[in-house]
Amino acid sequence: MQLGLQDKVAIVTGSGRGIGAATARALAAEGARIVVTDIDADTATAGCAALQRDGFSAIGVAADVTKAADVEHLMQAAVAAFGSVHVLVNNAGFARDARITRMSEADWDAVVDTVLKGAFLCSKAVVPVMAAQHWGRIVNISSRAHLGNPGQANYSAAKAGILGFSAALALELGRDQITVNTIAPGFIETDGVRNLPHYQKIKDNAIARTPIGRLGAPCDIASAAAFLASEAAGYITGAVLHVTGGRYAT
Ligand code: NAD
Repeated sequence: MQLGLQDKVAIVTGSGRGIGAATARALAAEGARIVVTDIDADTATAGCAALQRDGFSAIGVAADVTKAADVEHLMQAAVAAFGSVHVLVNNAGFARDARITRMSEADWDAVVDTVLKGAFLCSKAVVPVMAAQHWGRIVNISSRAHLGNPGQANYSAAKAGILGFSAALALELGRDQITVNTIAPGFIETDGVRNLPHYQKIKDNAIARTPIGRLGAPCDIASAAAFLASEAAGYITGAVLHVTGGRYAT
């Protein structure tokens, strides 16, 4: 299948490592020019350098998606380097787990701000460029946890919020030929989850509940994101793609 991403410009937030890095690479392999961006400047630089080493066209930009000024700078850097932006993958996010009575206000704010406000600020900044060219793809990374996980009130709320955010934007932006879709990954083996306390126990539990019988890999999400970002997916908007190995509610 021709994905039609040759020379398209893609911003993937939080793409210094993990799912974001794999998504950036999948888009690059389809011919897209990539803006690798991460809150961690070294990670953004390293992620960009890894793509360039393999012959792909990429720039690295440090940006905290919760800060409007950083996001403005990110968009300006992308347009200055490549002339436009066609694809935005709102991937930056993390969990900071605690039962509700132990969850600090700071942990609530950090997770909700990064996931939800980050997606809001980046989408708001990119939509004028996409609307002007009458072509755009926004792919938002939610989680199976949007259904609720104990100890993840902040994360589950933010990831459920992404579904409503995406649905509203899909209705708003269709006339500009901008599609907005959501991926809800299951348990994907990345540094972000390998560092969780009790990782092995969580992993064994997840595999036992996953019909496909393994954890996901970053490339499992990256290929779904590349499809939703593509020309080929132009009539899909407002959709939620569950990439969970068949695991759903529990
Ligand atoms: P990761 O921790 O490996 O990578 C996330 C990247 O985001 C890091 O490089 C980090 O520096 C960056 N980041 C964090 N805060 C940021 C900010 N404010 N601005 C810009 N960048 C920021 O995580 P991952 O496992 O690759 O997860 C990526 C996305 O997928 C997240 O939104 C996560 O919630 C979601 N997800 C992951 C899993 C999983 O099992 N790994 C499952 C479902 C959903």
